[in-house]
Amino acid sequence: MKQDYEKLNFAVGPVMSGEEVLEVASRNAPYFRTAEFSKTMLDCEKNLLTLADAPKNSRVVFLTGSGTAGMEAALLNTLSRNDKLLIVKGGSFGTRFCEIAEALGIPFEPIEIEMGKTLHKEDLDKFEDKGFTAFAVNLGETSTGVLYDIDLISDFCNRNNLFLIVDAVSTFLAEEISMEKSNIGALITGSQKALATMPGVALVFLSSDGIKRVENNKVASLYFDFKNYLLDGTRGQTPFTPAVSTLLQIAARVEKIIENGGVEYEIKKTADLANYFRTKIADYPFTLFAEVPSNAVTSLKVQGDNSAVTIFETLKNEYDIFICPNGGSLKETVFRVGHIGALETTDYDELFSALDDMKKRGIIK
Ligand SMILES: *Cc1c(COP(=O)(O)O)cnc(C)c1O
Repeated sequence: MKQDYEKLNFAVGPVMSGEEVLEVASRNAPYFRTAEFSKTMLDCEKNLLTLADAPKNSRVVFLTGSGTAGMEAALLNTLSRNDKLLIVKGGSFGTRFCEIAEALGIPFEPIEIEMGKTLHKEDLDKFEDKGFTAFAVNLGETSTGVLYDIDLISDFCNRNNLFLIVDAVSTFLAEEISMEKSNIGALITGSQKALATMPGVALVFLSSDGIKRVENNKVASLYFDFKNYLLDGTRGQTPFTPAVSTLLQIAARVEKIIENGGVEYEIKKTADLANYFRTKIADYPFTLFAEVPSNAVTSLKVQGDNSAVTIFETLKNEYDIFICPNGGSLKETVFRVGHIGALETTDYDELFSALDDMKKRGIIK
C-alpha cells in the first residue's frame, strides 16, 4: 500500500531504489556471523573496488553510519595533528569537512569558492609548495550541484605530494571516478545516494597509501578505528553489528550493476536523465545555478519573484513529488532536482506536467 510519504522522489538522497534492492529491503535481516554473509561481503567488496577502478591492494571499509560518518572517519583515520590539510569549501559539504577537521584538531586551510562556482587553476596557485600534506574535496558539492575537476585536483596533489581524500557521496556511480588514475587515497560514498539503497552505510575505499596511513595512525576512538574494520574485513566481517539489510542491498545492487555492463552504464543512464531534464527545463523561469553541473543533480535558480521553497512545498503537498530544497542563504532562490536512483524519463514528464499545472495556477510565474 502506498504510504503518504511515498512520493515520486527527485531528492538527492535517500533516492528511490530498484526492484533488486527493494526485494532485499522487504526481508528480515539475517544473523550475520556466518560463512554465507562473509562470502556475500567479500564479493561485494571486490565488485565495489572494480566499480571505483581501485588500484591493487585497495580495500573498502563498511561503516554503519551516514555519509558524514564516512567523511569524519576518513579524516580521523588517515590524518593527524601533524598533517596540514587543504579543503575545497564551496558549499555546505565543503563546510562540513572544515568542521570535521576543526573537531579533530587537524590543521587545515579552506579554499573558499563562491557558491555555484567550480574550482579553477587560479584558486589553487597560491597553495602550491606551501607545506600541505593532504587535500579533501567533495567531488560533487551536492548543496550547489557543482562538480569539481578531478584531473585538475589530482595533478595538483601529485605535484605537491598530497594525500587525496575524495567525498564522492553523490558522485560515485554518477561520474567517472578512477581511484587508480586520480591517485585517490581515500574515497567516501554512502548507501542512500547513487548506490540507491536504504540509508545506514558509509563506504570508505582506501588505496594502499591510505591503508598505510591507517595502520600508522593512533586514533582516539574505538568504534571508528579502521584498523579493526580492515582486519575483520579480510574475512568478510565487521567488528560490530552493521546495518545488515543495507549491506545486503548494496551487495545486490553492485552485482546488478556489474551484470548490466558496469559503471559506464550507470554513469550514462544518469547523464542521459540529467540531459533530458536540462533540455526541457530551459523553457521554465529557472536558470542553471552550477557553473559546472554534476550528473547527479541539477541546481536551479528561480527567476523573478518565484520562490524556490514554495515550489518545493507545493510539489510535495499537492503533487506527491519530492524535489530537493536548499537551506541557508539559497533557501528562497535555489532548488535542486536529482538524477540518481531508480528514475526514468517518464518520471521527469510527470514532474513537467506538475510544473505546467503550477504555471497555469500562477504558482510559478
Ligand atoms: C549526502 C552527502 C553527504 C553525506 O550526508 P549524510 O546526510 O551524512 O549521509 C556527504 N557529502 C556529500 C557530497 C553528499 O552529497
